[in-house]
Amino acid sequence: MSRNETKFTVHFWGVRGSIPCPGQNTVRYGGNTPCVEMRAGGERLIFDGGTGLHVLGQSLMRQMPTTAHIFFTHSHWDHMQGFPFFTPGFVKGNHFDIYGAIAPDGSTVEQRLNDQMLHPNFPVPLQIMQADLDFHHVIPGHSIQINDIVVETAPLNHPGEAVGYRVNWRGGAAVYVTDTEHFPDRLDENVLWLARDADVLIYDSTYTDEEYYSPKSPKIGWGHSTWQEAVKVAQAANVKTLVIFHHDPAHDDDFLDNVGMQAAEKFPGAVMAKEGMKLEVAVSHVAAQNLTASHVGQFSA
Ligand SMILES: [Zn+2]
Ligand SMILES: [Zn+2]
Repeated sequence: MSRNETKFTVHFWGVRGSIPCPGQNTVRYGGNTPCVEMRAGGERLIFDGGTGLHVLGQSLMRQMPTTAHIFFTHSHWDHMQGFPFFTPGFVKGNHFDIYGAIAPDGSTVEQRLNDQMLHPNFPVPLQIMQADLDFHHVIPGHSIQINDIVVETAPLNHPGEAVGYRVNWRGGAAVYVTDTEHFPDRLDENVLWLARDADVLIYDSTYTDEEYYSPKSPKIGWGHSTWQEAVKVAQAANVKTLVIFHHDPAHDDDFLDNVGMQAAEKFPGAVMAKEGMKLEVAVSHVAAQNLTASHVGQFSA
């Protein structure tokens, strides 16, 4: 990739929550767990390492040596399980900067990536990976600067905590908000802040409202949101394109088609996340925006 690259793109490699679900009934939306690639300013930013990361890794094998910044929202398995199968990580000469918050138990993202590869869960340890891996702590509420890209962060409402990310480049913004549960009485101020005037908002829409509030088996407290809440956030935050994301593995293609139609009726900028989908964020080529880096202190953790 060259620094002269002028596009800001968002590429979906895994859009499914909880567990991979390949099969005849999920082939159109895809069965891989979360992995979203953004490219801006000659840099590759990867969000989450679900099984979609394996597929992305196979494509990177044709572009080596390679570098990327990999951001983890949290360490639930569906967001990390692709990392041990990220083939470019095993190849000397590649370089990856890896970002994640310290978990409530005090463990770092490095420890958690390491732990999931320990015997007897995996045949080789993290230390076998020959690429340069540089680990960075994310402090939710603080920003990360990569050349002229500013990545803003905020805590989400999820069991075990999770981090939301907003990528700003040349006046364009793409926001990655999963896994998170909405509040019963108000829109989440952290999510609204991340999503403000965004070109693209990728939002945890695991359930429908009907499932979430189902008297028989409610999903309240499970750490996920609904497409109806996604629409409310997108409207309140003045988002251009809303991406319905983290599909429930129980939702087949026909079900998701139906969600997509209903969401687009309520919010014309709504699209369903699909494996292989690419979006382009409009950017200004006149001058880079002068964004300030810190928003500390305005968050409820
Ligand atoms: Zn998840
Ligand atoms: Zn989770």
